[in-house]
Amino acid sequence: MPVMPAAFFGHGNPMNAIEKNRYTEAWRAFGAAVPRPRAILVISAHWYVQATAVTAMPRPRTIHDFFGFPRELFEVDYRPPGLPQLYEEIADVVHPTWVGADLDSWGIDHGAWSVLTHAFPDADIPVVQLSINALKPFDYHLQLGAALAPLREDGVLVIGSGNVVHNLGGVSRALPDAGFDWAQRFDQEAKQMMLTDPTGVGRLDGHRDYDLAVPTPEHFLPLLYVAGVAGATGAPAEVLVDGYAYGSLSMTAYTVGMEAPAVAGAGFAAPLPEGPPPDGANI
Ligand code: ZN
Repeated sequence: MPVMPAAFFGHGNPMNAIEKNRYTEAWRAFGAAVPRPRAILVISAHWYVQATAVTAMPRPRTIHDFFGFPRELFEVDYRPPGLPQLYEEIADVVHPTWVGADLDSWGIDHGAWSVLTHAFPDADIPVVQLSINALKPFDYHLQLGAALAPLREDGVLVIGSGNVVHNLGGVSRALPDAGFDWAQRFDQEAKQMMLTDPTGVGRLDGHRDYDLAVPTPEHFLPLLYVAGVAGATGAPAEVLVDGYAYGSLSMTAYTVGMEAPAVAGAGFAAPLPEGPPPDGANI
């Protein structure tokens, strides 16, 4: 079985799940370029809880964890199988870190399925999620990512899904395809580190723009898992696609351990739905 790459995706607006744009095309190109995984392990910004847990149900449900979006987004039903035995394998490789088996609380959230509907549209590869433990410091997440790295040799594709820069309060509808200066500075610094010294992203909480770029950590933390994999294996990270949305989101995606497929065309992020600003819209 070939060694799997790993990847981080900036998922942005949930509407990307049902749109076609430069980002979704990049996600699709990624899925087409990787060897077929035995399972996909997703660390999503949207499973941010006070525990480290792994979904271990045979048929995970599709979770529509947002509101204020069009009906067709609620009708997305991405239903791959789970892989309950992967819980044991994960518990083994991360030992002595403890992980719980989630049998009935979570499933596949939109941080996972908004990307996977493009990357693996057939939904025939088992998908498992690992929660992000909100109680833990950056080093914990980097180390957990590093501990997961050997799973690459057993056909497990590790995916982080969040956004390097994610400030919903700062969203500007007038800037659908641009980033504020501070967003660009932070994203560029993260990029510099990912391409040279990946685990350095664990020090970005000292960056002068951190408080604006990462007002809450849940969308940033999935990057630490992928950086942990890159740091543990020495596999180089490459930019799959990059860009900004609404001033305060970066859409940058990285691959680790594979040559990033070429992505053509100009980038337009999915349009935000009409209506009030997306405060609390959980994107
Ligand atoms: Zn999100």
